[in-house]
Amino acid sequence: MSNRYDYLVIGSGPAGHISAIKAAQLGLNVAVLEKDPEMLGGVCLNEGCIPAKSLLNDAYIFSTLKKSGELYFQAPSAVINMQKLVEKSRSSSDMLRKGLAFLFKKNKITLIEGEAKFIDANTIEISTSSGSVKVVADKVLIASGSEPRELPGIAFGGNVWNSSRAIRAQGVPESILIVGGGAIGCEFASFFNMVGSCVTLLEAEESILPFEDKEISRRMRSIFKKKGVKVLPSSLLKSVSQREDEVEAEIESGEKVEKEKYSVVLVAVGRCPSTGSLGLEKAGVDIDERGFIKVDDSLRTTASNIFAAGDVIATPMLAHSASAEGILSAEAASGKDTEPIDYDCMPNAVYSDIGAASVGMTEEEVKKKGIEYSVGKQFFKANGRAVTSAQTEGFVKVIADVSSRKILGAHILHHDAPEMIHEFVVAKRGGLTVDDISGSIHAHPTLSETIMDACHAVFGKSLHG
Ligand code: NAD
Repeated sequence: MSNRYDYLVIGSGPAGHISAIKAAQLGLNVAVLEKDPEMLGGVCLNEGCIPAKSLLNDAYIFSTLKKSGELYFQAPSAVINMQKLVEKSRSSSDMLRKGLAFLFKKNKITLIEGEAKFIDANTIEISTSSGSVKVVADKVLIASGSEPRELPGIAFGGNVWNSSRAIRAQGVPESILIVGGGAIGCEFASFFNMVGSCVTLLEAEESILPFEDKEISRRMRSIFKKKGVKVLPSSLLKSVSQREDEVEAEIESGEKVEKEKYSVVLVAVGRCPSTGSLGLEKAGVDIDERGFIKVDDSLRTTASNIFAAGDVIATPMLAHSASAEGILSAEAASGKDTEPIDYDCMPNAVYSDIGAASVGMTEEEVKKKGIEYSVGKQFFKANGRAVTSAQTEGFVKVIADVSSRKILGAHILHHDAPEMIHEFVVAKRGGLTVDDISGSIHAHPTLSETIMDACHAVFGKSLHG
């Protein structure tokens, strides 16, 4: 191991590893520090997006089998094996982790297992299993990610889970209270509902997915209700008391305070940046009042040779946002001219039995800005592909500016919504109009035809509406 690098990356998640590969491709001598070899690839690959999608996929197959009588084949006595489900999700992560190690080798990136602490802006002490070493780097990227946020007085442990614990569930909890109706809360509510738990989803705001377009969050709530998930909006978890195999939760909903027992409580109320142990003050890196590292448009921190990307900065906590930031930091660190990231064109995706995806503004945000707009909406129940795959729940909603006819926001609710949003991302980024989408021929039969139809409906009539 050398002790001098052009670019030292702290953290191997979607920000760190993509940045390292990009920097190596740009000719820099790169090292990546990762404190836990089992976490190569970060939370997304090992405890987040990837295993969660594996679990959701298999739970969906199971729930389809259970209701197979309705679907003209018979397997209603299907039994779930949670351990196998989780094992399979772990093997998806293992496979991708091995792929990443291969990419590091291919790009001649040095992987150092150890925990980083700044001595000064260019010198980092790394604690490894065989002692500590000092390395010197011309440029540094901090991409140390985030950790689940605890509620005051409610520590994780026992049957009070965070997402890292829930992803490794070894059995189906009889009942589960999920606190937080955001992306993680909705994903796990859908998963545990499909595998047969009795699910309660508690949310502090008036609606679940409070940052999505209201029509999406309202419909998502009624879909959950139809599937047997109890949704408690405008509610707070005040305290828990743990017994051997149950948790008593004190829940405040308006004036009412009630105690309920659950097998498990899963807290998913957001994540906090992980920067505490880095010694940022020694490097001259400032943080804001919420603990996020302050950066400029090229993701340079208050120390001019140090960059930060991903969950440690106050931008959307999304893996794809982190990767885009990783690329930008690598380009800036290697002296290239950079363009700031256009966060208005950042897609958002929530995975569940019925997923949601969006880009741009919600109707509420457009209204608040006083922009003159028109909305086009089309339901999947009129789409041939949706009908043949028995996936008719959901709709596409497009919001366009009346004078320019450009897309202000697009929102999709459907099992495959996260796969479909990119047509709108490209259109929005390229400044295209809804006519450009409705005038483009879409293959038949595809779910994407509903996007074309929704665009027809913005200033005229959908052909299937
Ligand atoms: P989140 O911010 O998406 O949602 C947290 C939810 O908890 C919010 O709806 C909030 O109103 C609610 N909440 C906050 N405090 C509460 C309280 N005391 N009681 C009840 N509800 C409360 O956070 P998350 O779901 O934990 O996810 C963490 C981050 O990871 C987010 O930024 C999220 O976007 C990201 N993530 C994204 C995806 C994806 O893109 N598919 C998946 C998982 C996580």
